[in-house]
Amino acid sequence: MRDVIVAANWKMNTTPADAGELARTIASRIAEPGVVRVICPPFTCLAAVRDAVVGEGIAVGAQNIHHELAGAYTGEVSAPMLAGLATWVILGHSERRRDFAESDALVGRKLGRAVEAGLRPIVCVGELLADREAGHAEDIVAGQLTGALVGHDPETLLAAGIVIAYEPVWAIGTGRTASAADASAMANAIRATLRGAGWGPQADAVPILYGGSCTSASIGEFLAEPGIDGALVGGASLKPDEMAGMIARAALTAAARRAVS
Ligand code: PEP
Repeated sequence: MRDVIVAANWKMNTTPADAGELARTIASRIAEPGVVRVICPPFTCLAAVRDAVVGEGIAVGAQNIHHELAGAYTGEVSAPMLAGLATWVILGHSERRRDFAESDALVGRKLGRAVEAGLRPIVCVGELLADREAGHAEDIVAGQLTGALVGHDPETLLAAGIVIAYEPVWAIGTGRTASAADASAMANAIRATLRGAGWGPQADAVPILYGGSCTSASIGEFLAEPGIDGALVGGASLKPDEMAGMIARAALTAAARRAVS
């Protein structure tokens, strides 16, 4: 049975004081132990969020790591530097691919660092609108995935709890979402890509999240698709009511999965 996951990506928002307060408010509203809940604040707020959610069963994640362990990389943060601060990390978010020219190969290197450091990785993939309109969305996502996973042992990534987030770029922060049917078809295509890359039936063990303008009103459509295991949420994750609504809906899916397992 795959985890049902709601992961919050706070992006470049909150100060340490705001983040602690927001995390405490969210934690007080989302006591749903059947759902894996993750908050990914900016680096500067990791300690505040960690302290705010102690004992709540909520995990803390970073939004990025550097692909080297240490050295002359001004302004960067490496995976070992997150020890005691975070247990998850988002990798290859489209905003990093767009703004920092992160390639699939670089995402793959970061993935290796995350796994070595014991961080649970969420690897983001997703097509541009032009790719989708040209009918190439699945090929683009397959290329991103195989480019990032090349050289990685499926067993190791599974043991690390790898999660894939399908985030169509045109849906991020735009108020537009993919249709549940398209997201489901992409989840199937992602697992087919994994199978083709040597994962075999273990592809079915990898949780796949949908991301892109997801809200408490829309998450149910995605969670109704058996191949989708939750959401990576940006804007709406800064709103406690939205987080509470999304996690309450995710708890229904988690309970339904437990009932049939
Ligand atoms: C994201 O940044 O991962 C994301 C899905 O953002 P939003 O929910 O704001 O579209």
